[in-house]
Amino acid sequence: MSIKSAARVVVIGGGVVGASVLYHLTKAGWTDVLLIEREELTSGSTWHAAGGMHTVNGDPNVAKLQQYTINLYKELERISGQSCGMHITGGLMLAGTPERMDWLKMAKARGRYLGMDLEIISPDEAAKLFPPMDKKHFLGAIYDPIEGHVDPSGVTYAYAKSAQIAGAEIVRHTRVTDLIARADGSWDVITTQGNVHAEHVVNAGGLWAREVGRMVGLELPILAMEHQYLITEKIPHMVRAEGRKEQVHVIDFEGELYLREERDAILIGTYERACVPWSATETPWDFGQNLLPNDLERIAPSLEVAFQHFPVLAESGIAKVVNGPFTFAPDGNPLVGPVKGLKNFWVACGVIAGFSQGGGVGLVLSQWMVEGDPGADVWAMDVSRYGDWATLAYTNAKVRENYSRRFRIRFPNEELTAARPLRTTPIYDRLQAEHAVFGDYCGLEHPLWFAPTAAEASEEVTFRRSSAHSHVAAECKAVRDSVGLLEISNYGKFEITGPGAADWLSRVMANHVPNVGRIALAPMLNECGKLIGDFTVCRPSEQRFFLIGTYAAESYYLRWFERTMPSSGVSVRPCAMEYVGLSVAGPNSRALLQSVVRDDLSTAQFPFMSFRRMDVGMIPAFVGRVSFTGDLGYEIWVTTDYQRALFDLLKQAGQVYGLKSFGGRALHCMRVEKGFGTWAREFRPIYGPYEAGLSRFVDLKKGDFVGRDAALKEKESGGALRLVSFAVDASDADCLGDEPIWHDGKVVGWVTSGAYGHTVKRSLALGYVPASLANATSGFEVEIIGERHKAERLSAPAFDADGSRMRS
Ligand SMILES: Cc1cc2nc3c(=O)[nH]c(=O)nc-3n(C[C@H](O)[C@H](O)[C@H](O)COP(=O)(O)OP(=O)(O)OC[C@H]3O[C@@H](n4cnc5c(N)ncnc54)[C@H](O)[C@@H]3O)c2cc1C
Repeated sequence: MSIKSAARVVVIGGGVVGASVLYHLTKAGWTDVLLIEREELTSGSTWHAAGGMHTVNGDPNVAKLQQYTINLYKELERISGQSCGMHITGGLMLAGTPERMDWLKMAKARGRYLGMDLEIISPDEAAKLFPPMDKKHFLGAIYDPIEGHVDPSGVTYAYAKSAQIAGAEIVRHTRVTDLIARADGSWDVITTQGNVHAEHVVNAGGLWAREVGRMVGLELPILAMEHQYLITEKIPHMVRAEGRKEQVHVIDFEGELYLREERDAILIGTYERACVPWSATETPWDFGQNLLPNDLERIAPSLEVAFQHFPVLAESGIAKVVNGPFTFAPDGNPLVGPVKGLKNFWVACGVIAGFSQGGGVGLVLSQWMVEGDPGADVWAMDVSRYGDWATLAYTNAKVRENYSRRFRIRFPNEELTAARPLRTTPIYDRLQAEHAVFGDYCGLEHPLWFAPTAAEASEEVTFRRSSAHSHVAAECKAVRDSVGLLEISNYGKFEITGPGAADWLSRVMANHVPNVGRIALAPMLNECGKLIGDFTVCRPSEQRFFLIGTYAAESYYLRWFERTMPSSGVSVRPCAMEYVGLSVAGPNSRALLQSVVRDDLSTAQFPFMSFRRMDVGMIPAFVGRVSFTGDLGYEIWVTTDYQRALFDLLKQAGQVYGLKSFGGRALHCMRVEKGFGTWAREFRPIYGPYEAGLSRFVDLKKGDFVGRDAALKEKESGGALRLVSFAVDASDADCLGDEPIWHDGKVVGWVTSGAYGHTVKRSLALGYVPASLANATSGFEVEIIGERHKAERLSAPAFDADGSRMRS
């Protein structure tokens, strides 16, 4: 058998994800597309999946793509004539604790602005929908009418046939053994049946995606885990009487179980805590439609709970056990998109819920390839969210943690412990000595808040205000009243140099380039005029710039920079951990810093938004006069070797001002008090700069820049949405993000950030509402843990409305 010699796209892998990508490429208009499968279609993790599907997801943007996937199956059946084996039974999520009830209320609330029809019901009502449950173990449930299951093989073939009808080709029993890049960015795909020259390659290799990545020098952060489900023998209760509907799907969070009716019996699966990775370093190529040996011992603790919660299970035997592997990324979300440094190489892997997410993954990837933009907010599953720090062993530790917690609540203030501490800055032990409670950010330890004593340096996990509340309040007070010290190393940093640096930055950023010695805040837009970054652009000299932005987005930014950079005259160097930083903020920050520098820090000599090379004591540093607290403040950047000395110097000099260390939590409260947005919350690719309140940072007069035409249109039309601030009548719980905003009894928007404003002594929220409501002052409510609270729209920042504190 020989293979065609050229195709516009080669998709590697004929599981549900590869088949979906193939179909969506044809739907987007690319029909010269070829899928290459090692064995038969479905021969990875797809064939033995339980086929369950649901719409609820922690990330609203992923939830939208799950809705899309489930709604797609009818279209596929119509086009292909192939049944997807769809059973829309509806589903229950059962709560056995008050915290889980709170979680359900929050999930229902989020569903409101996603157009989901979720209902909270009592244990009695739940038991009517799923009689095998013993209701005494539960406090309530969510009912979702759009849940069910499909036939995994039917779905994969329906995608494949629909793609073939549109002109796609599929070759089976052919393995891709190597990938060789050509100078023009196209690929030679080397297979067991000959070579194919392809403009684009998609890695949808599922269980082997890691091995396919290695063919191009890429170590993808994915790991396969063994997963078991079992099917009971026939249960009299489950025998379907004439006319009875199929029973609903069930997730029992406390039992960490999922269940559904399966032909007069029950299918039950669990994400066991004692989980086991499969093929931790290399996936064997000869693994086909095989299953792994059963290990019922491992799931015994979950089964014991299952026997109590669903007593019929204790009386029934086991007819079949399925133990199969499937792959996870460290956070459990898919890895999708183009890869920095590899032209025309795309990934669609790490998909743990192929039957809820496969359609959405295929849709966004095909749009990205054909249109140059995914057409949706895919940050939560963008492959670029991981950097070099996500090594094989890191991935192993995090995936095991994520798998074993799959049905557990992740509280907003909860810090997970696997793979920690991994990255630390030189002052880590100094901060530990001050009883810092650390958070993990891209594997880096950074201080969240400081406890007065070692004994108090821990916090209960909760959706409400925690024991850290009063300590964070003290940190905010220290900053607002005198001066605080914050470690700011956890930012992304880039050094941009060269004769073409200023011109390129002017083209890629929406704001003008700052003069030498100055700072400009600059949004970055895509061609559609949507926000794909926000930076502090600092210019120490004519041809040298520092860009400071979100560290988690470093690869995301670099991918965009590669796309827009000229072939010569500009060099971009990521230098996140070469420069670490400390910030002093508060009314006494100038006096403190002045006591250790020779430069004149008066506003006349070093005004707001200045940036300069200075000696701080003996330490060579860059100092910027800017602070995300919205107060008078300075950011001091030094190479890593100087950070300890800088810390000690500032601590010593700060004693006279009562200098207090503060952490990320206090910073968050203070930036919300100022209404300052941040990446991945207020600034995302679904918002335009005018909608996000960044109009003063868009310079339409400076000449052309990426996204200018679309930004101009947005300015003229006013955009559809508007970012606004609220003061919320909250009691013991503040907004966290993703809560619905109501106006006159209707859900009109969503919260992006929330915090208690310790200075202004009010609960605050930032969120998007329709532009038509941007000036309404009354009638707003925000739903926090199932309860609607009155919210006053603020027409100015809650703290220091005229910005005089940071400027004076
Ligand atoms: C026991 C179990 C139960 C599950 N239950 C559910 C569920 O209820 N609901 C749900 O949504 N998901 C479930 N899943 C997960 C689901 O199976 C996956 O999300 C899905 O299969 C991922 O599909 P994929 O296409 O990414 O990968 P795969 O199915 O692994 O497909 C990859 C394909 O690529 C091919 N390939 C790889 N490398 C090459 C190469 N070099 N050359 C040619 N071909 C190559 C492989 O042969 C394979 O066919 C379950 C998984 C398991 C193991």
